[in-house]
Amino acid sequence: MKPGRRVDQLATALVLTVSLATSQALSSEPISIRAGTLLDGRGGTQEDVVVVVEGSRIADISATAASSTTYDLSELTLLPGLIEGHQHIGSYFSGSDMFGSDDSPEKRMSHALENAYVSLMGGVTTLQSVGAQSDLEVRDAIERGVLPGSRILTSAGIIYDGTPDEVRQRIRDLKTIGADLVKIVISGLLRDGGERTNTDEFIQAACEESKTLGLRSLVHAHNPPETRTAILAGCTQIEHGGFLTDEIFELMVEHGTYFGPNVGVLQQNYIENRDRFLALGFTDQHFARMNAVVPQILEMFKRALEHENLKIVLTADAVAGSHGRSADELIARVEKGGQHPMDAIISGTSLAAQAIGMQDSIGTLEPGKEADIIGVKGNPIEDITALSRVVFVMKGGRVYKYDP
Ligand SMILES: [Zn+2]
Repeated sequence: MKPGRRVDQLATALVLTVSLATSQALSSEPISIRAGTLLDGRGGTQEDVVVVVEGSRIADISATAASSTTYDLSELTLLPGLIEGHQHIGSYFSGSDMFGSDDSPEKRMSHALENAYVSLMGGVTTLQSVGAQSDLEVRDAIERGVLPGSRILTSAGIIYDGTPDEVRQRIRDLKTIGADLVKIVISGLLRDGGERTNTDEFIQAACEESKTLGLRSLVHAHNPPETRTAILAGCTQIEHGGFLTDEIFELMVEHGTYFGPNVGVLQQNYIENRDRFLALGFTDQHFARMNAVVPQILEMFKRALEHENLKIVLTADAVAGSHGRSADELIARVEKGGQHPMDAIISGTSLAAQAIGMQDSIGTLEPGKEADIIGVKGNPIEDITALSRVVFVMKGGRVYKYDP
């Protein structure tokens, strides 16, 4: 290589670095983005439009103007940033388990921040981590606006057991330290058989206390009996639902309960990383069970889709190995489960925003909303795999990725 060319490359790299740093500062000038196709997150599609962003918000969306734009994404499809309803931001492959239990707090924090970055680069502009107390620091660090990462909500812990009084107290304590929602476990893990783990009294105390405090409640559940109790007691979202039936899906429709199944990433990630999880204490029996439930979950999901008003939302349940793969969950739901691509996108945008109570600020592309915008190569309505080709990411009016 000639020295001159090397200098050119260095200069180019420097300019790119400077321009990226500049773009991450909130622009005082409006930013205009030309979109080839725009999906508004509510089922609408527009062609050839310009999105104008002022500060952190979308100011206008209108037909293409002749004047030049800040970002010409006329080859891309723009859509609202994805909203992931179930993630474990602090999970990674450590020496002992997938939560770094034997590692220093500093090491755990560094992995959590990496996961928040990887999630953002994968097109997730907001995620809900459910959750550990350390998530609160990750959430607040991202919120300070220096480190790039998805906007985070967290349950700040998980309610596994306790008497009704203990459960109520624990939920009050979590609210006091700043939890955004409550995470409750009422069935086991599928790799352990997924059996019921808690009584009706436990479930009722947890759901009712959450409601009293104005907190949403996400419930890890697999079997119809305990899931029914949670829905009737006012818990707001059912997660996983491995063995749920049509009757329970109808009950969710009646009560407006959100549902977060895991069709394409959760079990698959364990199976794909079998050796790494074996090293963390997983057994052959765990893998036998997980292999067996994959097709069963797919059948459950197909049945769920037949309940037209069931509010199914994006929940990839990312742990070690699967951060940044929320798009893969939607791709699997469409390709293997038969969900309509537009419904899949709504489930990860406007409906997901409703599920986390943020529908007034995020989840759609329209004037007044936060400018959480991603650009993908291709049109996901025609080819859902386009969601895995995220080349532009803006969160709150700042560009974090531009790699067309
Ligand atoms: Zn989980």
